[in-house]
Amino acid sequence: MRGTAMCPRGSARPPRTLVALIVCVTVVPLATLLWLGWRLLEQDRSLEGQQTRQRVERAADLIVAAIERAIATSEQRLAAGAADWPDGVVAVTFRTRRVELLPAGRVAFVPVVPSLPEAPAGVFARGEDLEFRAGEPAAAVALFTRLARSPDPSVRAGALVRLARALRGAGRHDEALSVYAGLRAFDDVVAVNGVPASLIGLYGQATLLERARGDAGLRAVADDLASGLHSGRWVLTAPMYWLYAADADRWRAEQSPEPRQAEVLAEALGALWNRQSATAPLVAAPPRRELLSIRGQSLVVSSQVSEGGVRALIATPAFVRSQWLDPVTAVAREQQVAFSLTDPTGPGSSTSSVEPGAVGRASRAATDTTLPWSVSTASLAPPVERMAFELRRRVLIAGLALVALLALAASYFIIRAVGRETAVARLQSDFVAAVSHEFRTPLTSLRQFTDMLIEQPALGEDRRRQAYEAQSRSTSRLTRLVESLLDFGRMEAGARRYRLEPCDLNDLVRRVVDDFRSQSLQSGHDVAFSANGRVVVDSDDEALSRAVHNLLENAVKYSPTPHTVEVGLARLDRDVHITVRDHGIGIPADEREAIFSKFQRGEQARTLGIMGTGLGLAMVDEIVRAHHGRVSVESEPGKGSTFTIALPVKG
Ligand code: ADP
Repeated sequence: MRGTAMCPRGSARPPRTLVALIVCVTVVPLATLLWLGWRLLEQDRSLEGQQTRQRVERAADLIVAAIERAIATSEQRLAAGAADWPDGVVAVTFRTRRVELLPAGRVAFVPVVPSLPEAPAGVFARGEDLEFRAGEPAAAVALFTRLARSPDPSVRAGALVRLARALRGAGRHDEALSVYAGLRAFDDVVAVNGVPASLIGLYGQATLLERARGDAGLRAVADDLASGLHSGRWVLTAPMYWLYAADADRWRAEQSPEPRQAEVLAEALGALWNRQSATAPLVAAPPRRELLSIRGQSLVVSSQVSEGGVRALIATPAFVRSQWLDPVTAVAREQQVAFSLTDPTGPGSSTSSVEPGAVGRASRAATDTTLPWSVSTASLAPPVERMAFELRRRVLIAGLALVALLALAASYFIIRAVGRETAVARLQSDFVAAVSHEFRTPLTSLRQFTDMLIEQPALGEDRRRQAYEAQSRSTSRLTRLVESLLDFGRMEAGARRYRLEPCDLNDLVRRVVDDFRSQSLQSGHDVAFSANGRVVVDSDDEALSRAVHNLLENAVKYSPTPHTVEVGLARLDRDVHITVRDHGIGIPADEREAIFSKFQRGEQARTLGIMGTGLGLAMVDEIVRAHHGRVSVESEPGKGSTFTIALPVKG
């Protein structure tokens, strides 16, 4: 069968210098282009970085300004003496030996407690005498009961406290309990021995209930006590507060993990008070914003001078976040950055964290701003901005890849085309050489015999006849050669017209074989023909005869030792096969496909110096196709070849 491998001569390559030149012409601009593209990408990347940095720097300024504005608004309210502060902050005015809080009752305890209205101790001296010295609790109870009806609330409160105590001493706990309950109703500013009467009432109730193991009641009273203490209901000093708070917590079996806001504010207030006292008499501190670390919480203190004292705003982290930072979050979002605040004095105490994955950072030191924190911003790499860069980069890379691909493809096609042209040029020069050679042999023979006839007029009849016959053979050979070239030329030009008419293939092949046999016998070859009956096909007799003749010619030409060429005609189903079999040199597998192309000659045909033009099989192929058939070859190098023409049977 026709192989698939190309004949090596058919894939002739362009000269190395040409390939090198093409490679240079392609590779150098390509490399330059890629380098430029890479530089462009680098620039694009640095531009992206620069834009991000600029944006983050601008955002840092905007955020600092926004926080400063938010704090300034609160400070203006402080200066104006505003009282309606949201939760988490307290405005305090330090005066000589006195602090004023706005709003009142937001801190758990205060550094200085104003003296509360109290009844003079002498009012109760008689009762206490009866109670302690005379040992007459009942009389004391009666006396205190009478005093408890006094129109003066401070006397009433003092009497009730003592009455409850005397009742407890007398073991009349239930009565004592109800007296304490009455005390709870007192105004929080009425005091007994410096302690607000209502606080004494609650505390007394709780201690009695604790002793009586009235758990349910104790819990409720302790809750009231605790909530009063934590909400700064009573103006207490720190020791007094902690005394009551410790008991309240114990009764409620509660230990708050977080420091309570009122306690933190109170401690901050105490710290500020101590600082103020250290500089006593009260000196107006310069207006400033600072951080105060109280029990692990970072409080912001903004202080300013006011008439008669110093005003300060003590803000808890919750207030800072909700009032000053949350509005700034919108600015940060708008600028597509995250921001964080760091206490420059305390390591890593950050109020807001910069999100992970942030690209590009900027920071403003606390010393460069009016803020108590250092502010850092980081780009959140907004998807749109990054996508634009990413898209541009991808387009660039795709463009570069496309250009590189085009350049490579172009060089490939150029090299291929040049290769083909070179191959064709070589084939044509081979062809010219082969044709010249083909012509030269019969012409030389013609000339020799003609010279002989002219120069030797006395030549015998036999010799003369031999000379004429040789001349005739050479002339026929020349004629066939010219006809075959003309035929090929017509085929190439597409001018060869085939007139297909029904004919008996048996007759046609036999005729060709008979004609050929007479020529081949001289070279020692014989042709055997076998057929199995009449087969009608549509054929152009002349063309098909040429095809069979070409195969026979090759069979003889490529068989150095004389032998019998076998020609067979066999019908197979709807086809008829004409086979031409020789026992010659055979054809290597990698040449079997290419030999059917024009000008293609086998390697062995050349090396053995066998004459030929490389057109014979190309013509066979063309003719057989015109007859709607196909030609194929089976061969074994050194053993011979079998060419088969398969044609469709008519009808
Ligand atoms: P040419 O015979 O003029 O070279 P062809 O087209 O007839 O041209 O044949 C092409 C090539 O095929 C030959 O050069 C030869 O190498 C090979 N070839 C054709 N027929 C035979 C055959 N019967 N035996 C061996 N090789 C053959």
